[in-house]
Amino acid sequence: MRDFAAREIAPHVMKWDEAGEYPLATVKELGKLGLMGIIFPAELGGAGMGYVEYVTAIEELSRVDGSVGIIVAAHTSLCSNHIFLAGNDEQKKKYISRLASGEFIGAWGLTEPGAGSDAGSARCTATRKGNQWVLNGTKTFITNGAHADVAVVIAVTDKTAHTHGLSAFLVEKGSKGFRPGKKENKLGLRASDTSELIFEDCAVPAANMLGKEGDGFVDAMRALDGGRISIAALSLGMAQGAFDAALKYSKQRKQFGKPISEFQAIQWKLADMATEIDAARLLTLRAAAMKDAGQKTTQESSMAKLFASEVAVKCANESVQIHGGYGFIKDYPAEKFYRDVKLCTIGEGTSEIQRLVIARQLLKS
Ligand SMILES: Cc1cc2nc3c(=O)[nH]c(=O)nc-3n(C[C@H](O)[C@H](O)[C@H](O)COP(=O)(O)OP(=O)(O)OC[C@H]3O[C@@H](n4cnc5c(N)ncnc54)[C@H](O)[C@@H]3O)c2cc1C
Repeated sequence: MRDFAAREIAPHVMKWDEAGEYPLATVKELGKLGLMGIIFPAELGGAGMGYVEYVTAIEELSRVDGSVGIIVAAHTSLCSNHIFLAGNDEQKKKYISRLASGEFIGAWGLTEPGAGSDAGSARCTATRKGNQWVLNGTKTFITNGAHADVAVVIAVTDKTAHTHGLSAFLVEKGSKGFRPGKKENKLGLRASDTSELIFEDCAVPAANMLGKEGDGFVDAMRALDGGRISIAALSLGMAQGAFDAALKYSKQRKQFGKPISEFQAIQWKLADMATEIDAARLLTLRAAAMKDAGQKTTQESSMAKLFASEVAVKCANESVQIHGGYGFIKDYPAEKFYRDVKLCTIGEGTSEIQRLVIARQLLKS
């Protein structure tokens, strides 16, 4: 992964970022290497590895470009894994191998304009008509939205049952009545695609319901238990990248006749960054190892995501500070990390929501 990121990603990072260009060819290459389906069994076309390997891959990609990290994370943990967790054999066979090989790019649509943290209040509807479900509504902020060949979409099938009235559906690109909407112009992770998904009387076969009717929200939360580990890894990679840049620069930059790394104020920043990154890595690996052991990780996933994302924001901030004025310009990587990391405290549940999840788990026990 490290070699691949250095060779295939690093030379293009700023060009993709400036242009908001989705690195489609690179994503396809990752598919050929088996990296778009790391956590799925070989029988389904996956790489047959576990979460520990998966978070290592996401960290290495994100250390160079968080945009590639989030593309792979949303594709794997949210879209493909929701299918893996809730799909029937036919659905798994049909979609997982295509997603794992990179033939298909996957998206996952839960968030709506009026339903973010409170995702259970979604308003996108699916109405049964004969042998079909007809979807109407809009999903917003969907990673890979405009490039996805298949999207897992959560919609209301029973308005009276609140979170137990939500169901998941598989919607393929080109389905009549389905189109990507506005592509967001973002602060960071600009090479990743964040788009609306619009459904206007979009009829899908009844066989495209994913999981049981009414289980869409519960299955989405199960997918997020894995997804949050990948956002922890995304955070970790960017924190490490920001730290690496700061360490290197501190040894090169001379002021008052010596490298700035000789000033204790800079050394303490580096020491704090390295220590917190290590702690974030251990929390992330713990959650990944527990997942590999088949344990429930709701609390540990949220702890890893909360801590790693907050550490990443702090490290990116300190990296800019260590670079001084050069941290503010685009010739050095610190500026991009500073913009990119902020998503990590927001996506797949904000830091406030992670605390809420952790507290609920603590109070349950
Ligand atoms: C780049 C990007 C990619 C994304 N990718 C996807 C994707 O692929 N699929 C998808 O479904 N979604 C995706 N999202 C959406 C993301 O998960 C939501 O933005 C996030 O969950 C927050 O929802 P919101 O933006 O509506 O904020 P809101 O829920 O409106 O929150 C606003 C503020 O209020 C706080 N708040 C809300 N409720 C509470 C509470 N109960 N207690 C304390 N504070 C609270 C929040 O923490 C936050 O600070 C993406 C978002 C971005 C920016």
